[in-house]
Amino acid sequence: MLTVETIAQWMNGWTKDIKANKGYLNELDSVIGDGDHGSNLARGADAIEAALLTAPDDVPSTFKAVAMAIVSKVGGASGALYGTAFLEMYKESQRTTDMVKILDKAMKAMEKRGDSKPGEKTMLDVWEPVVKAAKRGNVTPIVIDDAVESTKDMKATKGRASYVGEKSIGHLDPGAVSSGYLFHNLFEVGLV
Ligand code: ADP
Ligand code: MG
Ligand code: MG
Repeated sequence: MLTVETIAQWMNGWTKDIKANKGYLNELDSVIGDGDHGSNLARGADAIEAALLTAPDDVPSTFKAVAMAIVSKVGGASGALYGTAFLEMYKESQRTTDMVKILDKAMKAMEKRGDSKPGEKTMLDVWEPVVKAAKRGNVTPIVIDDAVESTKDMKATKGRASYVGEKSIGHLDPGAVSSGYLFHNLFEVGLV
């Protein structure tokens, strides 16, 4: 059930994974981008953890606190995109507690913000198949891992990775990997 507690568990799991894999995320980003994805998100992770300690006691405000932490600390493309996602979760959670609907809205807001669609080697290539599976109620760790892995063979056409074009093929997208952590933790707390 979507509560302040389950969101906090979800977020604390994600921030723990981000911090444990900060170097790995930077490494992935140094191959097809500018090498800062892990550092960007790790800054956000600390801010999220701090925000959750003082977040108001309702679901929308909790999402809002996470969004604000991301927007103010992460920067870069991922800060804008994850910030947009959590701001939309804040808005949509005022209307529903259905996590699938909330995720779907968040994904659509990200597509609009990034002017991107699945297939362009971004975090959306994890969001799209996972949200689709969530609609059918069959998200599994394998679905998430396959989605992350699928970015390897794609050619980047959005974000910094698009600058290396063909050379992006054969490498995982860093944002897809961090979104993989996000969804593994969402699955573990039982929200999908
Ligand atoms: P920056 O690229 O500004 O250094 P990060 O390295 O933190 O920011 O984030 C890079 C990640 O952001 C990429 O791996 C990709 O998943 C995602 N990304 C970049 N541009 C877009 C976009 N237009 N739409 C969706 N995701 C994007
Ligand atoms: Mg980067
Ligand atoms: Mg950068």
